Amino acid sequence: MTVQVGKTTATMGKIALDAPIFDPPAFRLTNEQAAIITGARELGQTVFASRAAAYDRDATFPTENYKDLHRTGLLGISIPKKHGGLGADYQTYALAAAEIGRYCGATALTWNMHVCSTLWSGPLADDLDMDASVRAEHERRRAIHYKRIVDDGAIYSQPFSEGGAAAAGGVAFGTEAKPVNGGWIVNGKKIFASLSGHADYYGVLCTEIAEGQAASRRNTLYLAIPAKASGVSVVGDWDPLGMRGTVSRTLLFKDAFVEEDAALMPRGVYFQAALRWPHMFLTLSPTYMGLAQAAYDFTVRYLRGEVPGTPPVKRRMYPTKQIAVAQMQIKLEQIKTIWFQAVSEARANPSKEQVLRAYAAQYSVMEGANELAALAIRTCGGQAMLKSLPLERIYRDSRCGSLMLPWTAELCLDRIGREALYEAGETDD
Ligand SMILES: Cc1cc2nc3c(=O)[nH]c(=O)nc-3n(C[C@H](O)[C@H](O)[C@H](O)COP(=O)(O)OP(=O)(O)OC[C@H]3O[C@@H](n4cnc5c(N)ncnc54)[C@H](O)[C@@H]3O)c2cc1C
Repeated sequence: MTVQVGKTTATMGKIALDAPIFDPPAFRLTNEQAAIITGARELGQTVFASRAAAYDRDATFPTENYKDLHRTGLLGISIPKKHGGLGADYQTYALAAAEIGRYCGATALTWNMHVCSTLWSGPLADDLDMDASVRAEHERRRAIHYKRIVDDGAIYSQPFSEGGAAAAGGVAFGTEAKPVNGGWIVNGKKIFASLSGHADYYGVLCTEIAEGQAASRRNTLYLAIPAKASGVSVVGDWDPLGMRGTVSRTLLFKDAFVEEDAALMPRGVYFQAALRWPHMFLTLSPTYMGLAQAAYDFTVRYLRGEVPGTPPVKRRMYPTKQIAVAQMQIKLEQIKTIWFQAVSEARANPSKEQVLRAYAAQYSVMEGANELAALAIRTCGGQAMLKSLPLERIYRDSRCGSLMLPWTAELCLDRIGREALYEAGETDD
């Protein structure tokens, strides 16, 4: 399975392609993995990089990039091959997403929301318990979603956040789905809904509540609500510090009817996934792995006098610059190492050590990417942070990683401290 990047990439051949973040032989990747990841990198560097500044400046959604993701097959990267996708597993997707994030953070982050709709309903759900009839029904339903993506280029999003404790996993989602004949009636509100106004389907987490029932996290449903459904609206503006192209506005659902086939996971399976497949929440990190690499790449090029649009002045001969680059290289290697290990061991029922490592990897990437970008600005200097160059965007975009629920930097620290000191069910009473 190859990614068709070169077909319409007019600029190919003129640009010296970057080396991969993770060299396939060094990181023992298969040829098939390397082909998918190379396709993502080439698309990112030769096409997305030059569009990124405009999406950022105008806070507009990267619609053109999504057409390219569809054309190259990357919109269906994690859709199983039998459904027409590239069949990439978790690790392959994560490595490809890091390469996209290296050139356009907003595209990588929104692409993550889209891809997770297929990764979670696909390979991840295959690891979870379902009885035979539920699995057969799930298989039938997900085929509908996959066909829309592969054939029509349908875009999915993942609006979970509501502004309360639900997205952190503390309480049931306030968005409610009332079962009715043939489906559900959904009411609620989602904030920071990336791709709002641009996705074709909003993959909403909500709580199924029948008449007279109390809300419970066990009854979380994951429903793909059509953007055009009656009762769905996008409100509010979007003018943030970074990740501006994500267009993460507010979504409202007012008596929106959604049919049964909208379920991206059967009843009870999202709750099971959150407990048994925790690396599902590490999927926000690849974007920031790419941004960390981008900050480093920029610094090396700048100090060598090789950044297009800047005078060819070399600064690499100064010992202070060399020390700074050495510090950046060490930090980058630390981030790469823990992150690669964590994305490689994503699975059902990971060990306690693997879960703690996943939190530590998330923290390291999300905080580390911005630390590298800050160091890059200090090292390269004033001329390097002008808006005509990508570094200041990398700096702003990378600041947003630590805010992503449920594994914000603060919550990762909370979890590591608690879970390292207490075994499950242990108290001090
Ligand atoms: C660019 C961008 C795009 C986004 N896209 C999406 C999207 O597509 N879908 C989506 O669902 N969300 C998205 N989000 C939202 C994100 O996941 C968070 O929900 C949002 O940033 C939370 O903002 P808040 O101010 O409500 O955080 P709060 O919930 O008020 O939390 C503020 C901080 O307090 C800490 N905190 C929160 N809960 C606890 C707790 N129980 N204990 C201790 N500390 C806690 C956390 O560190 C958190 O960062 C996006 C955010 C950004 C910045």
